[in-house]
Amino acid sequence: MNTSQPHGLLNTLLARLPHSSQGAFRHHQREAERRIAVVAAIAALTILPAAQAMEQMLLPGYQSAELHNALWRVPVMVVSLAILGLRWFRPEGAWPRPLLQLFSLALLTMAVGIFARGQALESTADLYTGQHLIINIAVVSITATRGLRDLPLVFGPPLLFALPLLLLLNGVPLAEMTPPLIYPAIMVVVAGIIAELFYCGNAANFLAAQRLRQSAMTDPLTRLLNRRAMDAELTIARARAIRHEQTYALMMADLDHFKRVNDAYGHKVGDEVLVELALRLERSVRTEDRVARWGGEEFLLLVQGVDEMGAMTIAEKIRRAVAQTPFVTSAGVLEITISVGLAIHNEATPTEDLVAQADHALYQAKENGRNRVEAA
Ligand code: GH3
Ligand code: MG
Ligand code: MG
Repeated sequence: MNTSQPHGLLNTLLARLPHSSQGAFRHHQREAERRIAVVAAIAALTILPAAQAMEQMLLPGYQSAELHNALWRVPVMVVSLAILGLRWFRPEGAWPRPLLQLFSLALLTMAVGIFARGQALESTADLYTGQHLIINIAVVSITATRGLRDLPLVFGPPLLFALPLLLLLNGVPLAEMTPPLIYPAIMVVVAGIIAELFYCGNAANFLAAQRLRQSAMTDPLTRLLNRRAMDAELTIARARAIRHEQTYALMMADLDHFKRVNDAYGHKVGDEVLVELALRLERSVRTEDRVARWGGEEFLLLVQGVDEMGAMTIAEKIRRAVAQTPFVTSAGVLEITISVGLAIHNEATPTEDLVAQADHALYQAKENGRNRVEAA
């Protein structure tokens, strides 16, 4: 079973995310699990010894269970120490989910062990250990970070297997257990609801952040990268090119006489042309290349791993992809052309200057009659 796949109410939305976002979601979840594991470990390491001490001081008639209860607390403390150790030595590891589950199993088994013993004692212990069990079921709802899917694993073994076994071993008749188990059973249902809500909240947060990031990076009309996103891509491309001693090309493409399209057919048809042009530009380059809407009707292309000859060929291909096939719009079929200015990366030229070079070459292409490519 692939436990890293999303599930639950948000399944459809999450499944529709592009592949890279699925990876980002898993990373987001692992981060949340790491945080919860650390908080749970610190809480366990402080609360469990305190609870042990309180029982010894405040619960008369409960002394016979002191050592017994302390022993049940040891595995939880060990798992907690392991979590803190891994957090320190392997912060990026894949341990958060398995260790959280182990923590939950140890915690619930502890609660069940203490509960079973409490039910056997003639004192206030049965009440006390019932409350103790309920609290620990609630805690486990927070550590079940994948919602309902986690519940069979973290609730099943302690409650369905360990509980009857330990009651039996403590000589508590199973037939008498219905009243003491009513509220723990209700708590299991509540815990399931909490866990699922928690998971959904986490996934919804991720989706909202994803959408926000998406809209901050893309142009709403063409869905291309916007200028801000392209700036980041340019910085990465330059660093990569310098490190690997490669070159890349910047191409500034601008629609020829676009104002005439707007004036003759209206802004809406102009927008249709922009959307179709964006598609053609994207189809003309490889996946590792980037296309951005740089300005109103100006597009900047980042083409990786090419020299001037290669860049010229690609720019010509792009120009032809626009000029050779007319654009189908709601106002009919339109002949559209673009002019392209290109500039090739070199280590001495800062990114802004390279963009300015491409811009200047574009100006030359316009000067020289449009529907053509010029290199800086
Ligand atoms: P040139 O060949 O010299 O580039 O001529 P041009 O008419 O394309 O250039 P100019 O810069 O004079 O006009 C650009 C036009 O692009 C003006 C503006 O109305 C239009 N434009 C810019 N952004 C948008 C947009 O988002 N939608 C539409 N429909 N038009 C836009
Ligand atoms: Mg123009
Ligand atoms: Mg322009």
